[in-house]
Amino acid sequence: MGFLAMALTGCSEQPKEAAWVVDRFDDAKVIRYEVPEFENLPLNEKLLVYYLAESAKCGRDILFDQNFKYNLTIRRALEQIYTSYAGDKSAADFVAMEKYLKKVWFANGIHHHYSNDKFTPEFSREWFAEQLVALNVESPISHEELCEVIFNPSLYASRLNQSAGVDIIQASAGNYYEGVTQAEVEAFYNKMIDKNDPCPISYGLNSKLVKEDGKIFEKTYKIGGMYSAALEQVVYWLEKAESVAEEPLKTTIGLLIKYYRSGDLRDFDAFNISWVKDTQSNVDFVNGFTETYGDPLGMKASWESVVNFKDHAACERTRIISENAQWFEDHSPINPAYRKPEVKGVSAKVITVAMLGGDCYPTTPIGINLPNADWIRKEHGSKSVTIDNITYAYKKAAQGNGFAEEFVLRDEDRERMKEYGKLSDDLHTDLHECLGHGSGQLAPGTTGNELGSYSSALEETRADLFALYYLGDEKMIEIGLIPSLDVAKAQYASYIMNGMMTQFSRIELGKNVEQAHMRNRKLISEWAYDLGREENVIEWVEKDGKRYIVVNDFDKLRAIFGVQLHEIQRIKSEGDFEAGKALIEKFAVKIEPELHKEVLERYKALNIEPYGGFVNPEYRLVEKDGEIVDVEVSYPANYIEQHLLYSKNYSFLPSLN
Ligand code: ZN
Repeated sequence: MGFLAMALTGCSEQPKEAAWVVDRFDDAKVIRYEVPEFENLPLNEKLLVYYLAESAKCGRDILFDQNFKYNLTIRRALEQIYTSYAGDKSAADFVAMEKYLKKVWFANGIHHHYSNDKFTPEFSREWFAEQLVALNVESPISHEELCEVIFNPSLYASRLNQSAGVDIIQASAGNYYEGVTQAEVEAFYNKMIDKNDPCPISYGLNSKLVKEDGKIFEKTYKIGGMYSAALEQVVYWLEKAESVAEEPLKTTIGLLIKYYRSGDLRDFDAFNISWVKDTQSNVDFVNGFTETYGDPLGMKASWESVVNFKDHAACERTRIISENAQWFEDHSPINPAYRKPEVKGVSAKVITVAMLGGDCYPTTPIGINLPNADWIRKEHGSKSVTIDNITYAYKKAAQGNGFAEEFVLRDEDRERMKEYGKLSDDLHTDLHECLGHGSGQLAPGTTGNELGSYSSALEETRADLFALYYLGDEKMIEIGLIPSLDVAKAQYASYIMNGMMTQFSRIELGKNVEQAHMRNRKLISEWAYDLGREENVIEWVEKDGKRYIVVNDFDKLRAIFGVQLHEIQRIKSEGDFEAGKALIEKFAVKIEPELHKEVLERYKALNIEPYGGFVNPEYRLVEKDGEIVDVEVSYPANYIEQHLLYSKNYSFLPSLN
């Protein structure tokens, strides 16, 4: 729910600056990011960042294991071969293995981070098996089994399979469940969930559900429980951070430590409430089992961390949005019964990221909105951030890539995107995160769990529609956020083009759209096309054998966004599973094969990698006469070295957990 993924739409025409891109392989590029103003933080805040950053790196193994139970075994085998191989390193098999290893690091496992499909190795099984023997590679499973897991395409084919009609638990290779069927999982949690609790815990969030000897039970992620060895290190650094933090952050960190020790989800709620109330501290963080995108049932959370501090100059934009939160809520084009009578604690800020960890590394969100528990959001508000230094790095890396020339038909659209692209993307993110997710309320009797496997995509749809609708409102000019509605036009044209077309460049031919944000963009765009069909609001145009999508009437499109928001809010507020399912299945999943093929070909010709990830900066304590006098930041530009370093210094879990 809380993370907004980056829509990669490079629209600038300035010359390339290769220095921002540190590596390229397959469908991914790796970018470095800078941490402006770090050197101007006071020493205790620099130390706080340092300790929280160390903590962020300590959970890396957890995510690998959560993504797939053999990921750590495979990563270690690959790294051992990679670092101790004495043969010809220009040989095709070695080169292909290096690429595969880069992909495994990028995805935190052997399944693609976005499509969830298992990677196809381009080195031979025989060569790999030989290396396992020659280098005496240690493995908790036999070499034969290890090869089978990597090379047999039908084994553990998808990390996350949410296809209709399959047992989505058994069809998914993710490691949140073992030995249980979807029906057993649903029965287990239906029995556990207290529907009358006004403050329900996030059921199942921090555990693996297993069946052993006929008994179904949770293995809780906590110190003394599952993933203990890594969590002890996470907590070790959190304690250091706690020791230099000031209130209220100090208390918040203490509550997180308490939760890591108890594994009690009531403690997690207490931490979240303390965290969300703290809008003052300059340094802030995410650290824990947070987002549930990786679980087919959307209950269990992957481990992640982000360390950040305020970007004071850019915070002005989100301050204005927050100040007007109630106005936006009151004028939302939804059933008045589903508006929040009082919007509480909508805080928003622009941050500078100092460290990414777990499920935020190397691929990362550009916005964060947490916590995810509906009742906490309602009672205590939510915290929203946009990440400016990451967005900046993305833009830098995308400059001059030819994308706009290839896919945008009309000059006027291209010019608006060029002039207002960054501002309109930033504002879209702000509105989505600061207001969209926090808006609206449930009808009495609705728990928020009704939408099942469609909940993530529908929630992102709701937040995006809120943003799109208001970006085109005169109010935005009135409060000084945009100079003219051309900013909205830039966003509308690029959003529709992305949703109906260019985002398919990130999906393999023949595959469906699975990822929640991609589904949401496709749903909004294709549904809007359908709603405006009679009046030709959005139109397909063919020119020189290429297809383009154009928006003919921006005012009518905005009205359509309002109609859509009304219906999506109704679905969420009433928990109308069938209506939500029908919309997603009709508009968000299937791609027209001919169009898909065309997009892939045109995109490929541009040589743009559809996915971006990052290398982290490094921090070093500066000591003088036994005292820490400073923390220095540096920007390593070597993707391979960073991962080998992390695997050497921040790997605490056994291969099988
Ligand atoms: Zn979102």
